[in-house]
Amino acid sequence: MVCLIFYKNEIKRLKINLVKDYKLEISDLKEFDEIVLGTGVLPKKINIKGQDDVDFVYDYQDVFSSKVSLGNKIAIIGAGGIGFNMAEYISSSGISPTLNITKWMEKWGVVDPEKERGGVLPKSEITLNTSSKEIFLLQRKNEKLGKRLGKTTGWIHRKSLEKKNVKMFAGVKYEQINSDGLLISFGKEKKDLQTLKVDSIIICAGQNSEISLVEKLNINKINHHIISGAKVVNELDAKSAIDQGCRLVAKL
Ligand SMILES: Cc1cc2nc3c(=O)[nH]c(=O)nc-3n(C[C@H](O)[C@H](O)[C@H](O)COP(=O)(O)OP(=O)(O)OC[C@H]3O[C@@H](n4cnc5c(N)ncnc54)[C@H](O)[C@@H]3O)c2cc1C
Repeated sequence: MVCLIFYKNEIKRLKINLVKDYKLEISDLKEFDEIVLGTGVLPKKINIKGQDDVDFVYDYQDVFSSKVSLGNKIAIIGAGGIGFNMAEYISSSGISPTLNITKWMEKWGVVDPEKERGGVLPKSEITLNTSSKEIFLLQRKNEKLGKRLGKTTGWIHRKSLEKKNVKMFAGVKYEQINSDGLLISFGKEKKDLQTLKVDSIIICAGQNSEISLVEKLNINKINHHIISGAKVVNELDAKSAIDQGCRLVAKL
């Protein structure tokens, strides 16, 4: 939040011409001396048998931008950072406890130390914020979910979702999507074949660089620089994206 205010002020102070809600085309870029492309990423598509025969499979961008209305039984495919964020987002009805102090205190049972010894409610008195939605968070890798999230924070995300009854499965094989939901099995042996009876499926299976403009710039032989997600998607975070932009522009 503080970061956002800082950049808003800097854009004003430096009189940067900020154009919003406009999709750039190659024709817009012909007049510039230097072009920096930070066009980010697009959700990775995956191919599960039957997914094109139903109308309840969405990618994470559509859900985060509220373009779709989800049902009450939801399967999230992919349990990386975005999958975890998605599970948290839909189970909190779009309100993040991290950004709302009252909700955050309620969620973790934190109270005024004058009212409760140690400032924490006894476990039995903490209200469980279970979600009205039934959510499955699924991953292909056969390892503990959240293992690759932050070393010191992964367990917090997992605990938070456990408290909301999000069901987490590892080692999942996605067999088929049909009008009944998502047919899954486990491991190479395809054990425990079962249908998760869901009415919405969200794909959070990674990202690809958005380079459609790059291809056009190359064809037109227009010089350009590529940074952040448009260049490399793996392990990218906002800090390194900003760092790359600053270092490049300082050189130009
Ligand atoms: C759900 C989610 C949660 C995340 N949480 C965190 C977090 O907690 N901490 C963290 O550090 N990182 C987080 N990240 C990662 C972080 O958002 C990215 O690493 C960072 O935003 C990458 O910056 P970028 O400049 O490459 O792309 P982006 O920030 O995605 O910006 C690219 C922009 O280019 C625009 N664009 C693309 N093509 C065009 C075009 N033709 N015309 C005009 N505009 C165009 C896009 O609309 C977009 O606005 C999260 C990512 C996701 C998806």
